[in-house]
Amino acid sequence: MAGLTKAEIARARRKLAAAQHVAVVSHERPDGDAVGSALATTLSLQLNGKQAEAVFSDGLPGRYRFLPGAAGVRRDLPAGVDLVVSVDCSSLDRLGPPAGELPVINIDHHATNTLFGEINLIDPRASATAELLFDLAPQLRLPIDADVATNLLAGIVTDTIGFRTASTTPRVLQVAADLMARGAALTEVYDRTLNQHSLAALRYWSHGLARLEAQAGLVWCALTLDDRREADYRGNDDADLVNLLSTVDGARVVLVLVEQSDGRTKVSWRGRDGFNVARLAEQFGGGGHDLAAGAMISGDRVQVEQAVVAATRAALEAAS
Ligand code: 5GP
Ligand code: MN
Repeated sequence: MAGLTKAEIARARRKLAAAQHVAVVSHERPDGDAVGSALATTLSLQLNGKQAEAVFSDGLPGRYRFLPGAAGVRRDLPAGVDLVVSVDCSSLDRLGPPAGELPVINIDHHATNTLFGEINLIDPRASATAELLFDLAPQLRLPIDADVATNLLAGIVTDTIGFRTASTTPRVLQVAADLMARGAALTEVYDRTLNQHSLAALRYWSHGLARLEAQAGLVWCALTLDDRREADYRGNDDADLVNLLSTVDGARVVLVLVEQSDGRTKVSWRGRDGFNVARLAEQFGGGGHDLAAGAMISGDRVQVEQAVVAATRAALEAAS
């Protein structure tokens, strides 16, 4: 496996041992695996007596603020940092914050990872970066206490959407059981990260759902800035609407388009029954996993929607 040799892991262990002050970062618009992996790594380094901070340029989405260590998250790289650990981020341009000239250890499970680190520990077989971190922890000498375990479990629970994705292997369930045995709060993690939605999020969904479209195995809708304002929804994401669309019977691909205040449109694709959406996202400058991918696309919202729907329909037709 590229970048996951014993030698590379040993280099990472030595680099971590030598570091004085570590910043742990991830991708912009962080999801549960980004946050859980970053907080787990940060807390574990602190258990080793290191100065370590998790840094997210935009802070943390509200639903992850219950996680242990969330209160210590910073928005800027602190002065004096001598090593950056990037978790769950596939390329340098998605890092939030940018690492500048600092050396980077890159730990990730995206098959599309560009190996941008000085050291790269990449395993696309892992269901979540948090699962990979669990596997690497003994070799990297990263201790796992109850708080670290809760964060790792949050990464696994969210990236597998509650153990529902095809990436959920027996090993994933064994890791989850091990994390629970170490004190991870499965019920709370599940409830706070997957089950609970704000009233504003549901109102926001209702705008998109009112315009839901479906054509030959494709189900999609768009969320506009007006929808967001009217619902008083504070995030710049789809509030997880794409996961709801994924439950539609007979859908092979679902997509949600979210208008952004900077003139761009965020698109999320989800494939079902093995239908690969990563290549579609790549066509539009994005990326992700085979069955869950996204892109941030510039241009008029309506034209972006037409282009994305046309490309997705063409891919569906080619596959059938
Ligand atoms: P989501 O649709 O939930 O934002 O993202 C699904 C998957 O696609 C995640 O693995 C995420 O990292 C990846 N992804 C989302 N947006 C982008 C993007 O703009 N560029 C790239 N390279 N990957 C993305
Ligand atoms: Mn992930």
